[in-house]
Amino acid sequence: NHLLKKLGPNMKIAKNSVVVIHYAVSDGEGTLIDSSYEDKPMAIIQGTGYLIPGLDDALVDHEAGDKFEVAVPCEQAYGERHDEYVQTVPKEVLAGVEDLAVGTQLRATTDEGEQTVIVIDVQDEEITVDGNHPLAGLDLNFDVEIIEVRAATEEELEHGHVHAEGGCGHDH
Ligand code: ZN
Repeated sequence: NHLLKKLGPNMKIAKNSVVVIHYAVSDGEGTLIDSSYEDKPMAIIQGTGYLIPGLDDALVDHEAGDKFEVAVPCEQAYGERHDEYVQTVPKEVLAGVEDLAVGTQLRATTDEGEQTVIVIDVQDEEITVDGNHPLAGLDLNFDVEIIEVRAATEEELEHGHVHAEGGCGHDH
C-alpha cells in the first residue's frame, strides 16, 4: 500500500516565504560561533533584512528538508572591521559607570546614532572601546537545515516578523 504524502511539489523559498531553519555558524578557522541546535530553530521571513544578506540570499529556491553549507564573506555578513571604531577615551567620560571591565558593553552616542561598544582595554586613566560588531571582519560558514517553508500571512508581512500558531503573541 502506498501512502500519498504530498499533494504537490514542495514550496521553494522566495521573497516573503516564512522559513524555519536550524543553523550552525563557524568562522574561517572552523571554530563554532553559534548554533540553533541547542535551542529551537529560527523562524524568519526571507527578504526582510532580518538575516545577514549572504545567508538570506542563500535560502532562495531551497525547500523543506534541504541541508546545505554556505560560505559568507564578511562583506555579506557583518561587514569589514573599521579601525576607527576603536577609540580610547578618558575614564572620566564614563564617570558613574560601575564595574568597567574588559567585555563590558556600553551604549554610546555617535554621529550615526546610538551604538553598542565593547570595552577592550582598561588603563589607569583611560579606557579603550570597540564599536565594531563582534563578528565584523569575519568570513562565516553556515550549515543550514531547512525545517519548514510556507507563505507569510498578510499580518506577518505587515508586522515584519513570523507569528507562532494562533496569532501574534507580541504587543504592538
Ligand atoms: Zn506581530
